[in-house]
Amino acid sequence: MATKEQIIEHGLGYLGDVGIEAVCQVCVPNGGSCCKSCSYLRDRVGCQSRNTSCTAWLCGFQKYIFFELGLLEAWNLFWEQVPGQDYRQDFTPTQVVVPLWLDKPDPRIRSIVDAFARDLEELRIHKKIMISQFNDTLESYMINNLLYPDSEIARHVLKKQRNHMLDFKQFRMEKENYYSR
Ligand code: SF4
Ligand code: SF4
Repeated sequence: MATKEQIIEHGLGYLGDVGIEAVCQVCVPNGGSCCKSCSYLRDRVGCQSRNTSCTAWLCGFQKYIFFELGLLEAWNLFWEQVPGQDYRQDFTPTQVVVPLWLDKPDPRIRSIVDAFARDLEELRIHKKIMISQFNDTLESYMINNLLYPDSEIARHVLKKQRNHMLDFKQFRMEKENYYSR
């Protein structure tokens, strides 16, 4: 048995270990925040209602990074054990049976995520992309790829996704280094 708070802490700790805040630090000041217009967001203070749903949810950037680094399946399996997730709120019971916890990610993953954040910042500056639109498009590609794996649709979407992510060269280089060591 685990409390809802322990589950949220575990998820946030994992995201922290992956170093995902480096991407949020590019996204948030440039209008891409996923907390935008949420009534639980207090200016300069942050979220006033941490819940299982928002902790479990991954934006397009996160889905892509997790998928590329082989973390997505374990993340989804962990959160599938947690009932009551809703939009920006949860109805998760105070105690939940959680047989499966996430292993700590390899600390080297942080440098790959940092590289992603640098690529994103450069793309924003040089190609003037709208961060939230870019993120949403990536998310729709990811959802299609995950829903229809090995299909004609997935192959078509994968091509578009590769094109969308063409400029993420530092990310790809760090990823290749990581897998070659
Ligand atoms: S949309 Fe993604 S990158 Fe942007 S603030 Fe939310 S979690 Fe971070
Ligand atoms: S409830 Fe979710 S969307 Fe709202 S501020 Fe908190 S984390 Fe952000």
